[in-house]
Amino acid sequence: MLRKCSLSACACLSVVCCFCFVAVFAMPFHALAARGLLDAPSLPTDDFVAVAIPDSIFERMRNVSFPVSKAAAAGVRRSDLRYLQILHYDYEGQVRRGELVCHRTIASALLDIFRQLYAHRYPIASVRLIDDFGADDEQSMRANNTSCFCFRAVAGSKNLSKHSRGLAIDINPLENPCVKTRNGRTVIQPVTAGPYVNRQKAFAHKIDRTDLAYRLFTAHGFTWGGAWRTRKDYQHFEHR
Ligand SMILES: [Zn+2]
Repeated sequence: MLRKCSLSACACLSVVCCFCFVAVFAMPFHALAARGLLDAPSLPTDDFVAVAIPDSIFERMRNVSFPVSKAAAAGVRRSDLRYLQILHYDYEGQVRRGELVCHRTIASALLDIFRQLYAHRYPIASVRLIDDFGADDEQSMRANNTSCFCFRAVAGSKNLSKHSRGLAIDINPLENPCVKTRNGRTVIQPVTAGPYVNRQKAFAHKIDRTDLAYRLFTAHGFTWGGAWRTRKDYQHFEHR
């Protein structure tokens, strides 16, 4: 009798386990991330931490922000990248967990900068991997998403962006667009950022030389795209 019950319980448990396994692994990784279910054993749980790219994160990136063959041809390696988790305040003053992928050489600088931004309650709208936007920079910028690594060319050019090596980061891109002139026409990225092109106007979340993010990034050796001559990329900070 006891033996029969034991087998029966075991069978039930197996069914439940199978169901849970299928339910969790059938979900796309970005859905797990959005639900705050990123705390698998191989993932960090600290508030500000940088680790080698965990397998589950790389699966989100593979052939999205990290096109495997193109990256290999350009000498961009997974082992050169780091996965960061940080905390930040959003525009509503809520604390949120953000995630970034960057080059290993700037990981500690970014952690330090984001710790200080958090300590000063600096508002950042969103900090999600660009893979959640299909590695579409325009969509990520329209969503006002702060992001770092994405293997891609500079818009309108064949040159690889510093983002391709994880050496550039875009902060609050909606209020801090990239503005340039092409064939006599002004090009704004994201295209929805028209109200924020005039930098003489006062508005919230504007990055200028008095801004805390500007001061922290430049103090850590980053250059600011807002200081460039031919195009102004107010959201962009990059490192050599
Ligand atoms: Zn950028």
